[in-house]
Amino acid sequence: MPPEDEQAHRRHAMVAAQLRGRDIVDERVLRAMEAVPRERFVGERQQRRAYDDAALPISGGQTISQPYMVARICEALRLTGGERVLDVGTGSGYQAAVLAELSAEVYTIERIPELAELARERLAAAGYERVHVHVGDGTLGLPEHAPYDGIAVAAAAPGFPQTLYQQLKPRGRLVVPVGSARGQRLEVAVRSPEGPALIHSVPCRFVPLVGAEGFEQ
Ligand code: SAH
Repeated sequence: MPPEDEQAHRRHAMVAAQLRGRDIVDERVLRAMEAVPRERFVGERQQRRAYDDAALPISGGQTISQPYMVARICEALRLTGGERVLDVGTGSGYQAAVLAELSAEVYTIERIPELAELARERLAAAGYERVHVHVGDGTLGLPEHAPYDGIAVAAAAPGFPQTLYQQLKPRGRLVVPVGSARGQRLEVAVRSPEGPALIHSVPCRFVPLVGAEGFEQ
């Protein structure tokens, strides 16, 4: 089998077993995960493992999130196609690409400049040049393009990130792993006049969010 077909086959199997086979039901999310070539966001050495049911190492001691967690975060945002979304912790750029399949405008922010640059190249090479990649402390959001319909955080926060919440539109959703560096719960907050309506979701484990409203370096 040519390598692309082999990866397409693995991608299809990943969606069936790891997503549909668990509890991912949003058809748009399933289609987006079926569309984005995850192998293009990992290095040469990870090609065979690109669709493994796991987070994988990328440079800078960081990881590309497990496919299931990416799908779970996307599903929790309840996107329908017209939204403006902020993705905090670009990493490989994979989550940003999946978000680009699901919404109209994606802004993504990464604190490590080398990772941001590589993600920018990989996103463009995979046809996602309309994703805007920024370098900076994403715990402070990206106020120049706020407010957002949805904000996805792919790194663990020590507490609920107030600044990010403030950058949501009314009824906007913030999805963020909150807890200690060792383990967190994926929290979903909906912006409402009475303050954040919090929905606790699955236990998870992400690399730490490092910054003003994150962990210290
Ligand atoms: N969504 C990514 C997952 C990357 S892991 C993917 O699909 O590959 C989380 C990323 O968050 C790491 O690259 C890390 O450098 C970044 N990060 C940590 N703290 C950050 C902060 N304060 N602002 C922006 N990015 C941050």
